Amino acid sequence: MRYRIHPKTGDRISEIGLGSAYLYESDHDEAVHALQTAYEGGINYFDLAAGDARAFPLWGDALGSVRRNVLYQIHFGADYSKGNYGWSLDPEAVRRSVDWQLSQLKTDYIDYGFIHCQDEARDWETYRWNGVWDYLSSLQKQGVVRHLGLSSHTPSVIRLILGSVPVDTLMFSVNPAYDYGQGEFASGSLPERSEIFTLCEKERIAITVMKPFSGGQLLDAARSPFGRAMTSWQCLRYALDKPGVVTVLPGAKDTEEVEELLRFELASSDETDYSIIASFAPPEAGGKCVYCNHCAPCPQGLDVGLINKYYDLALAGDPLASEHYRNLEKNASDCILCGHCDHRCPFHVRQSRRMEEIRRFMDGR
Ligand code: SF4
Ligand code: SF4
Repeated sequence: MRYRIHPKTGDRISEIGLGSAYLYESDHDEAVHALQTAYEGGINYFDLAAGDARAFPLWGDALGSVRRNVLYQIHFGADYSKGNYGWSLDPEAVRRSVDWQLSQLKTDYIDYGFIHCQDEARDWETYRWNGVWDYLSSLQKQGVVRHLGLSSHTPSVIRLILGSVPVDTLMFSVNPAYDYGQGEFASGSLPERSEIFTLCEKERIAITVMKPFSGGQLLDAARSPFGRAMTSWQCLRYALDKPGVVTVLPGAKDTEEVEELLRFELASSDETDYSIIASFAPPEAGGKCVYCNHCAPCPQGLDVGLINKYYDLALAGDPLASEHYRNLEKNASDCILCGHCDHRCPFHVRQSRRMEEIRRFMDGR
């Protein structure tokens, strides 16, 4: 398992985490075995916005004894009093739900307490006015909640809330369908969504990814808005390449699906290459580097995707991006303008020209 360090909290987080959407559909022993397989495979980060109350005791039984070694996202606004998932902005319901979740998880603290599912500006008004935010904030002051998070699908609301309160982690829906304006949660234009990634990277806010497969649609040609299926590994790589992302949180329904996720760590670059998305990208996505490294290998050994990512972040005002760029073994100054990447790029990026632009910007000439 590869791990990424949360830029604000310093937590060491597995790049593959696990959501809690489907596991409760398996019987108890199978679900517990799946969670223990995930843990033994190195997964240490779990999202608990479950679809059903049955999920919580499974986590308690599987991971209660190793609680100190794992990290939980708990959502203030997810209500399980009726058995299945409900969304609530009532502070008493939220309080009861959080207490109940902690008891089922066999824990007395929360690693990341989330302002839950804020997709409209008025949700945030209510959240503050009703006192849910005060409750979450008070638990942080007491040390019950270690760090604060926000889950949202909507770039404009994300900007609003990140500008109002000190959030450490953003849970955001990331996949090519949403980025290209397809699907139920495809909120915001491609530039608006891209700005969220650069904003988070710049502000040291870690992104944890929900819905990496667009609810499974992208894995099924018949359901995919693009009419072609992607693999789960391509989707995971796509999300992990976005600036600011520390972990992706797919759901799994049993041990077999957990093992498939774990195998991602051993996948070759060909197996995770998601440049297929160039064939269904809208015109406005053309000519922009998506950091996929489909153009590799560069004969000079440049990591073209990473160099472009640091450049975009530096342009957006991230002071650390230029420093990271300068620490690269090879950078745009080493480009010999051979044109290999220009021919290989399925997104029609004139990369050799861009390397000159990057070199001028970074070298100040
Ligand atoms: S230049 Fe093209 S192929 Fe290379 S990393 Fe960028 S988008 Fe991918
Ligand atoms: S043009 Fe530059 S970056 Fe692209 S493959 Fe050639 S040397 Fe590498």
